[in-house]
Amino acid sequence: MAGCPLFIYSPRLLGYRFGPAHPFDPLRLEVTVDLIRQCGLLASDQVVEPELCSREDLVLIHHERFLDALELASRQAAPPNLLHIYGFHSDDSPAFPGMAEASRLIVGATLLGAKLIMAGKANHVLQISGGLHHAGRNRASGFCILNDAAVAIAYLQRHFGLRIAYIDTDAHHGDGVQAIFYDDPTVLTISIHEKGRFLFPGTGDVEERGRFAGYGFSFNLPLEPYTEDDSYIEVYEQAVEPLIAAFKPDLILTQNGCDGHHLDPLTHLALTTRTYETIPKLVHRLAHKYCAGRWLALGGGGYDHWRVVPRAWTLLWAEMNDQTVPDQLPLPWQVRWQPYSPVPLPVRLRDGINEFPPIPWREAITAKNRATLQQALRGVAELIASQIGE
Ligand SMILES: [Zn+2]
Ligand SMILES: [Zn+2]
Repeated sequence: MAGCPLFIYSPRLLGYRFGPAHPFDPLRLEVTVDLIRQCGLLASDQVVEPELCSREDLVLIHHERFLDALELASRQAAPPNLLHIYGFHSDDSPAFPGMAEASRLIVGATLLGAKLIMAGKANHVLQISGGLHHAGRNRASGFCILNDAAVAIAYLQRHFGLRIAYIDTDAHHGDGVQAIFYDDPTVLTISIHEKGRFLFPGTGDVEERGRFAGYGFSFNLPLEPYTEDDSYIEVYEQAVEPLIAAFKPDLILTQNGCDGHHLDPLTHLALTTRTYETIPKLVHRLAHKYCAGRWLALGGGGYDHWRVVPRAWTLLWAEMNDQTVPDQLPLPWQVRWQPYSPVPLPVRLRDGINEFPPIPWREAITAKNRATLQQALRGVAELIASQIGE
Protein backbone atom coordinates (compact mmCIF):
# COMPACT_ATOMS: atom_id res chain seq x y z
CA MET A 1 0.00 0.00 0.00
CA ALA A 2 1.55 3.27 -1.11
CA GLY A 3 2.09 5.91 1.56
CA CYS A 4 1.99 9.66 1.24
CA PRO A 5 3.75 11.43 -1.64
CA LEU A 6 7.53 11.59 -1.53
CA PHE A 7 9.82 14.50 -2.35
CA ILE A 8 13.32 13.81 -3.62
CA TYR A 9 15.73 16.47 -2.46
CA SER A 10 19.20 17.24 -1.21
CA PRO A 11 21.19 20.48 -1.11
CA ARG A 12 23.75 18.55 -3.18
CA LEU A 13 21.41 19.08 -6.15
CA LEU A 14 22.37 22.76 -6.06
CA GLY A 15 25.72 21.72 -7.58
CA TYR A 16 24.15 21.76 -11.06
CA ARG A 17 25.20 25.32 -11.80
CA PHE A 18 26.59 26.78 -15.02
CA GLY A 19 27.81 30.02 -13.43
CA PRO A 20 26.70 33.24 -11.76
CA ALA A 21 25.26 34.94 -14.86
CA HIS A 22 23.44 31.87 -16.20
CA PRO A 23 19.61 31.93 -16.06
CA PHE A 24 19.36 28.32 -14.85
CA ASP A 25 20.14 29.09 -11.21
CA PRO A 26 19.72 26.23 -8.72
CA LEU A 27 18.98 28.77 -6.00
CA ARG A 28 15.38 28.53 -7.24
CA LEU A 29 15.24 24.99 -5.82
CA GLU A 30 16.31 26.14 -2.38
CA VAL A 31 13.83 29.03 -2.37
CA THR A 32 11.06 26.68 -3.49
CA VAL A 33 11.78 23.95 -0.94
CA ASP A 34 11.83 26.56 1.78
CA LEU A 35 8.43 27.89 0.69
CA ILE A 36 6.95 24.39 0.61
CA ARG A 37 8.31 23.75 4.12
CA GLN A 38 7.14 27.10 5.48
CA CYS A 39 3.66 26.40 4.11
CA GLY A 40 3.62 23.29 6.29
CA LEU A 41 3.40 20.96 3.28
CA LEU A 42 6.53 18.86 3.80
CA ALA A 43 6.89 16.37 6.62
CA SER A 44 10.45 15.26 7.31
CA ASP A 45 9.62 11.65 6.44
CA GLN A 46 8.48 12.72 2.97
CA VAL A 47 11.96 13.85 1.93
CA VAL A 48 14.20 11.25 0.31
CA GLU A 49 17.91 11.78 -0.36
CA PRO A 50 18.91 11.06 -3.98
CA GLU A 51 21.86 8.96 -5.09
CA LEU A 52 24.09 9.14 -8.17
CA CYS A 53 22.84 7.05 -11.07
CA SER A 54 25.15 4.46 -12.55
CA ARG A 55 26.75 4.43 -15.98
CA GLU A 56 24.61 1.38 -16.70
CA ASP A 57 21.49 3.49 -16.15
CA LEU A 58 22.77 6.25 -18.42
CA VAL A 59 23.60 4.00 -21.36
CA LEU A 60 19.93 3.05 -21.54
CA ILE A 61 19.69 6.37 -23.40
CA HIS A 62 23.02 8.11 -23.80
CA HIS A 63 25.92 7.14 -26.07
CA GLU A 64 29.16 5.92 -24.49
CA ARG A 65 31.29 8.50 -26.31
CA PHE A 66 29.08 11.33 -25.14
CA LEU A 67 29.40 10.10 -21.54
CA ASP A 68 33.19 9.87 -21.92
CA ALA A 69 33.28 13.45 -23.21
CA LEU A 70 31.11 14.56 -20.29
CA GLU A 71 33.59 13.02 -17.81
CA LEU A 72 36.48 14.82 -19.51
CA ALA A 73 34.61 18.14 -19.65
CA SER A 74 33.72 17.75 -16.00
CA ARG A 75 37.43 17.45 -15.15
CA GLN A 76 38.24 20.41 -17.45
CA ALA A 77 40.27 17.99 -19.56
CA ALA A 78 38.30 18.02 -22.80
CA PRO A 79 39.81 19.61 -25.92
CA PRO A 80 37.71 22.40 -27.51
CA ASN A 81 36.60 20.30 -30.47
CA LEU A 82 35.17 17.67 -28.15
CA LEU A 83 33.26 20.33 -26.21
CA HIS A 84 31.90 21.58 -29.52
CA ILE A 85 30.78 18.16 -30.80
CA TYR A 86 28.78 17.33 -27.69
CA GLY A 87 27.26 20.74 -26.98
CA PHE A 88 29.42 21.77 -23.98
CA HIS A 89 30.81 24.89 -25.65
CA SER A 90 27.69 27.03 -25.91
CA ASP A 91 26.47 29.77 -23.60
CA ASP A 92 23.42 27.58 -22.91
CA SER A 93 25.19 24.53 -21.49
CA PRO A 94 28.86 25.43 -20.94
CA ALA A 95 31.19 22.93 -19.27
CA PHE A 96 31.76 23.48 -15.55
CA PRO A 97 33.90 21.55 -13.05
CA GLY A 98 31.98 18.65 -11.54
CA MET A 99 29.24 18.74 -14.18
CA ALA A 100 29.25 14.96 -14.67
CA GLU A 101 28.54 14.24 -11.02
CA ALA A 102 26.00 17.07 -10.73
CA SER A 103 24.10 15.76 -13.77
CA ARG A 104 24.26 12.15 -12.62
CA LEU A 105 22.78 13.15 -9.27
CA ILE A 106 19.78 14.71 -11.03
CA VAL A 107 19.27 11.57 -13.12
CA GLY A 108 19.70 9.47 -9.97
CA ALA A 109 17.06 11.57 -8.21
CA THR A 110 14.54 11.06 -11.02
CA LEU A 111 15.33 7.34 -11.22
CA LEU A 112 14.89 7.03 -7.47
CA GLY A 113 11.43 8.56 -7.86
CA ALA A 114 10.54 5.92 -10.45
CA LYS A 115 11.90 3.13 -8.24
CA LEU A 116 10.01 4.32 -5.16
CA ILE A 117 6.75 4.32 -7.11
CA MET A 118 7.38 0.83 -8.49
CA ALA A 119 8.31 -0.44 -5.02
CA GLY A 120 4.93 0.78 -3.79
CA LYS A 121 6.48 3.29 -1.38
CA ALA A 122 4.44 6.13 -2.85
CA ASN A 123 1.92 6.79 -5.60
CA HIS A 124 3.19 10.27 -6.32
CA VAL A 125 6.76 11.54 -6.26
CA LEU A 126 8.06 15.05 -6.98
CA GLN A 127 11.63 15.71 -8.12
CA ILE A 128 11.94 19.44 -8.85
CA SER A 129 15.57 19.39 -10.01
CA GLY A 130 14.64 17.07 -12.90
CA GLY A 131 12.93 17.62 -16.22
CA LEU A 132 16.02 18.33 -18.33
CA HIS A 133 14.02 17.70 -21.48
CA HIS A 134 16.30 19.16 -24.17
CA ALA A 135 19.26 16.79 -23.68
CA GLY A 136 19.72 14.37 -26.57
CA ARG A 137 21.29 10.93 -26.71
CA ASN A 138 24.65 12.40 -27.59
CA ARG A 139 24.38 16.12 -27.05
CA ALA A 140 23.82 18.64 -24.26
CA SER A 141 21.34 21.36 -25.20
CA GLY A 142 19.38 24.23 -23.69
CA PHE A 143 20.71 24.01 -20.08
CA CYS A 144 20.23 20.21 -20.15
CA ILE A 145 23.19 17.82 -19.98
CA LEU A 146 21.65 14.42 -19.30
CA ASN A 147 18.02 13.59 -20.01
CA ASP A 148 16.75 12.38 -16.64
CA ALA A 149 13.17 11.91 -17.85
CA ALA A 150 14.26 9.74 -20.78
CA VAL A 151 16.54 7.61 -18.59
CA ALA A 152 13.68 7.03 -16.14
CA ILE A 153 11.30 6.09 -18.96
CA ALA A 154 13.82 3.65 -20.43
CA TYR A 155 14.45 2.16 -16.99
CA LEU A 156 10.72 1.63 -16.42
CA GLN A 157 10.38 0.03 -19.85
CA ARG A 158 13.37 -2.25 -19.35
CA HIS A 159 12.63 -3.42 -15.82
CA PHE A 160 8.84 -3.29 -15.65
CA GLY A 161 7.61 -3.25 -19.26
CA LEU A 162 5.52 -0.13 -18.58
CA ARG A 163 3.73 2.05 -21.09
CA ILE A 164 4.35 5.64 -20.13
CA ALA A 165 2.66 8.93 -20.90
CA TYR A 166 5.05 11.89 -20.74
CA ILE A 167 3.29 15.25 -20.40
CA ASP A 168 5.49 18.31 -20.85
CA THR A 169 3.96 21.72 -20.08
CA ASP A 170 7.22 23.67 -20.09
CA ALA A 171 6.98 26.70 -22.40
CA HIS A 172 9.74 25.17 -24.55
CA HIS A 173 9.16 22.10 -26.71
CA GLY A 174 10.23 18.83 -25.06
CA ASP A 175 12.40 18.00 -28.05
CA GLY A 176 14.94 15.69 -26.37
CA VAL A 177 12.40 13.30 -24.87
CA GLN A 178 10.32 13.33 -28.06
CA ALA A 179 13.30 12.53 -30.29
CA ILE A 180 14.51 9.66 -28.09
CA PHE A 181 11.12 7.89 -28.19
CA TYR A 182 10.01 9.10 -31.63
CA ASP A 183 9.49 5.60 -33.06
CA ASP A 184 8.32 3.98 -29.82
CA PRO A 185 4.57 3.26 -29.45
CA THR A 186 4.97 2.41 -25.75
CA VAL A 187 5.75 6.03 -24.87
CA LEU A 188 3.22 8.75 -25.59
CA THR A 189 4.91 12.15 -25.50
CA ILE A 190 2.65 15.19 -25.17
CA SER A 191 4.25 18.63 -25.36
CA ILE A 192 2.33 21.88 -25.05
CA HIS A 193 4.59 24.84 -25.67
CA GLU A 194 5.08 28.21 -27.31
CA LYS A 195 5.40 27.94 -31.09
CA GLY A 196 8.88 27.10 -32.31
CA ARG A 197 8.84 30.02 -34.70
CA PHE A 198 9.23 32.33 -31.71
CA LEU A 199 11.15 30.25 -29.17
CA PHE A 200 13.98 27.78 -28.63
CA PRO A 201 14.38 24.98 -29.69
CA GLY A 202 12.28 25.77 -32.78
CA THR A 203 10.67 22.33 -33.06
CA GLY A 204 7.35 20.95 -31.81
CA ASP A 205 5.16 21.47 -34.87
CA VAL A 206 1.74 19.80 -34.97
CA GLU A 207 2.91 17.55 -37.78
CA GLU A 208 5.68 16.00 -35.67
CA ARG A 209 3.62 12.93 -34.81
CA GLY A 210 6.21 10.18 -34.43
CA ARG A 211 7.45 7.72 -37.00
CA PHE A 212 7.27 4.03 -37.96
CA ALA A 213 5.52 2.08 -35.18
CA GLY A 214 5.58 5.25 -33.09
CA TYR A 215 3.45 7.26 -35.53
CA GLY A 216 0.68 8.94 -33.55
CA PHE A 217 2.54 8.65 -30.24
CA SER A 218 4.23 12.07 -30.35
CA PHE A 219 1.75 14.86 -29.79
CA ASN A 220 2.55 18.54 -30.09
CA LEU A 221 0.44 21.55 -29.35
CA PRO A 222 2.35 24.72 -30.30
CA LEU A 223 0.65 27.80 -28.85
CA GLU A 224 0.66 31.43 -29.86
CA PRO A 225 2.87 33.88 -27.99
CA TYR A 226 0.91 35.82 -25.34
CA THR A 227 -1.48 32.93 -24.73
CA GLU A 228 -3.30 33.53 -21.41
CA ASP A 229 -4.83 31.19 -18.82
CA ASP A 230 -8.29 30.65 -20.29
CA SER A 231 -7.03 29.61 -23.70
CA TYR A 232 -4.17 27.53 -22.29
CA ILE A 233 -6.37 25.62 -19.86
CA GLU A 234 -9.01 25.02 -22.52
CA VAL A 235 -6.64 23.43 -25.04
CA TYR A 236 -4.62 21.62 -22.36
CA GLU A 237 -7.70 19.88 -20.96
CA GLN A 238 -9.16 19.12 -24.38
CA ALA A 239 -5.89 17.57 -25.52
CA VAL A 240 -4.65 15.66 -22.50
CA GLU A 241 -7.83 13.96 -21.34
CA PRO A 242 -8.74 12.13 -24.60
CA LEU A 243 -5.13 11.21 -25.33
CA ILE A 244 -4.63 9.62 -21.91
CA ALA A 245 -8.02 7.91 -22.16
CA ALA A 246 -6.98 6.38 -25.50
CA PHE A 247 -3.44 5.42 -24.47
CA LYS A 248 -4.23 4.13 -20.96
CA PRO A 249 -0.69 4.45 -19.60
CA ASP A 250 0.71 2.50 -16.66
CA LEU A 251 2.43 5.62 -15.31
CA ILE A 252 2.32 9.35 -16.00
CA LEU A 253 5.54 11.34 -15.99
CA THR A 254 5.13 15.10 -16.02
CA GLN A 255 7.63 17.82 -16.80
CA ASN A 256 6.33 20.86 -14.91
CA GLY A 257 8.37 23.73 -16.29
CA CYS A 258 6.68 26.99 -15.28
CA ASP A 259 8.41 29.34 -17.71
CA GLY A 260 5.17 30.16 -19.50
CA HIS A 261 4.27 32.57 -16.69
CA HIS A 262 3.72 36.22 -17.55
CA LEU A 263 6.77 37.22 -15.48
CA ASP A 264 9.18 34.69 -16.98
CA PRO A 265 11.99 36.53 -18.75
CA LEU A 266 12.69 33.88 -21.43
CA THR A 267 9.33 33.16 -23.09
CA HIS A 268 6.30 35.03 -24.41
CA LEU A 269 3.39 33.12 -22.93
CA ALA A 270 1.21 35.15 -20.53
CA LEU A 271 0.06 32.58 -17.97
CA THR A 272 -0.54 33.05 -14.27
CA THR A 273 -0.50 30.76 -11.26
CA ARG A 274 -4.05 29.72 -12.23
CA THR A 275 -2.64 27.62 -15.07
CA TYR A 276 0.00 26.11 -12.79
CA GLU A 277 -2.66 25.20 -10.27
CA THR A 278 -4.88 23.65 -12.95
CA ILE A 279 -2.30 21.56 -14.83
CA PRO A 280 -1.58 19.13 -11.97
CA LYS A 281 -5.26 18.79 -11.03
CA LEU A 282 -6.09 17.03 -14.31
CA VAL A 283 -2.95 14.89 -14.25
CA HIS A 284 -3.73 13.87 -10.68
CA ARG A 285 -7.22 12.73 -11.59
CA LEU A 286 -6.00 10.84 -14.67
CA ALA A 287 -3.20 9.14 -12.73
CA HIS A 288 -5.74 7.70 -10.32
CA LYS A 289 -8.19 6.81 -13.08
CA TYR A 290 -5.77 5.01 -15.40
CA CYS A 291 -2.48 4.34 -13.58
CA ALA A 292 -3.39 3.22 -10.05
CA GLY A 293 -2.11 6.64 -9.00
CA ARG A 294 1.42 6.23 -10.46
CA TRP A 295 2.61 9.80 -11.12
CA LEU A 296 6.19 10.98 -11.18
CA ALA A 297 6.44 14.77 -11.45
CA LEU A 298 9.59 16.66 -12.41
CA GLY A 299 10.53 20.33 -12.43
CA GLY A 300 11.81 21.94 -15.61
CA GLY A 301 12.24 25.51 -16.81
CA GLY A 302 11.29 28.57 -14.81
CA TYR A 303 13.47 31.64 -14.75
CA ASP A 304 11.72 34.01 -12.40
CA HIS A 305 13.24 32.36 -9.36
CA TRP A 306 11.59 34.59 -6.82
CA ARG A 307 8.03 35.19 -7.88
CA VAL A 308 7.09 32.27 -10.12
CA VAL A 309 8.99 29.02 -9.52
CA PRO A 310 8.45 28.78 -5.74
CA ARG A 311 4.73 29.41 -6.05
CA ALA A 312 4.10 27.22 -9.11
CA TRP A 313 5.83 24.19 -7.58
CA THR A 314 4.24 24.74 -4.18
CA LEU A 315 0.85 24.55 -5.93
CA LEU A 316 1.98 21.37 -7.69
CA TRP A 317 3.15 19.71 -4.48
CA ALA A 318 -0.03 20.77 -2.64
CA GLU A 319 -2.11 19.09 -5.35
CA MET A 320 -0.05 15.89 -5.10
CA ASN A 321 -0.79 15.87 -1.36
CA ASP A 322 -4.50 16.73 -1.69
CA GLN A 323 -3.83 19.83 0.38
CA THR A 324 -5.28 23.27 0.01
CA VAL A 325 -2.95 26.07 0.95
CA PRO A 326 -3.93 29.46 2.38
CA ASP A 327 -3.31 32.25 -0.07
CA GLN A 328 -1.21 34.29 2.33
CA LEU A 329 2.45 33.33 2.02
CA PRO A 330 4.32 32.74 5.28
CA LEU A 331 6.15 35.81 6.54
CA PRO A 332 9.33 33.93 7.58
CA TRP A 333 9.82 32.92 3.93
CA GLN A 334 9.68 36.55 2.82
CA VAL A 335 11.94 37.68 5.64
CA ARG A 336 14.51 35.03 4.80
CA TRP A 337 14.71 35.60 1.04
CA GLN A 338 13.80 39.27 0.42
CA PRO A 339 17.37 40.45 1.07
CA TYR A 340 18.57 38.33 -1.87
CA SER A 341 15.77 39.14 -4.30
CA PRO A 342 16.07 42.06 -6.75
CA VAL A 343 12.25 42.30 -6.88
CA PRO A 344 9.66 42.51 -4.10
CA LEU A 345 8.64 38.97 -3.15
CA PRO A 346 4.98 38.05 -3.60
CA VAL A 347 2.77 38.01 -0.52
CA ARG A 348 0.13 35.73 -2.04
CA LEU A 349 0.38 32.23 -3.41
CA ARG A 350 -1.94 32.95 -6.33
CA ASP A 351 -1.85 35.83 -8.77
CA GLY A 352 -4.86 38.12 -8.53
CA ILE A 353 -7.49 38.03 -11.25
CA ASN A 354 -6.39 41.41 -12.64
CA GLU A 355 -2.74 41.07 -11.77
CA PHE A 356 -1.62 41.56 -15.36
CA PRO A 357 -3.17 43.75 -18.07
CA PRO A 358 -5.23 41.74 -20.58
CA ILE A 359 -3.54 40.93 -23.88
CA PRO A 360 -5.20 43.11 -26.54
CA TRP A 361 -5.46 40.44 -29.25
CA ARG A 362 -6.83 37.79 -26.91
CA GLU A 363 -9.67 36.64 -29.20
CA ALA A 364 -7.41 36.05 -32.16
CA ILE A 365 -4.98 34.07 -30.00
CA THR A 366 -7.77 31.95 -28.56
CA ALA A 367 -9.12 31.20 -32.05
CA LYS A 368 -5.69 30.26 -33.37
CA ASN A 369 -5.00 27.96 -30.43
CA ARG A 370 -8.36 26.24 -30.98
CA ALA A 371 -7.56 25.70 -34.64
CA THR A 372 -4.13 24.28 -33.75
CA LEU A 373 -5.75 21.92 -31.24
CA GLN A 374 -8.18 20.63 -33.86
CA GLN A 375 -5.36 20.06 -36.31
CA ALA A 376 -3.24 18.32 -33.67
CA LEU A 377 -6.03 16.05 -32.41
CA ARG A 378 -7.40 15.00 -35.77
CA GLY A 379 -7.66 11.21 -35.74
CA VAL A 380 -4.97 10.80 -33.10
CA ALA A 381 -6.98 9.32 -30.22
CA GLU A 382 -8.55 6.80 -32.62
CA LEU A 383 -5.14 5.92 -34.02
CA ILE A 384 -3.66 5.39 -30.56
CA ALA A 385 -6.62 3.32 -29.41
CA SER A 386 -6.42 1.09 -32.53
CA GLN A 387 -2.65 0.66 -32.15
CA ILE A 388 -2.87 -0.49 -28.56
CA GLY A 389 -5.56 -2.98 -29.54
CA GLU A 390 -8.54 -1.54 -27.74
ZN1 LIG B 1 11.52 25.90 -20.73
ZN1 LIG C 1 -3.45 11.22 -5.30
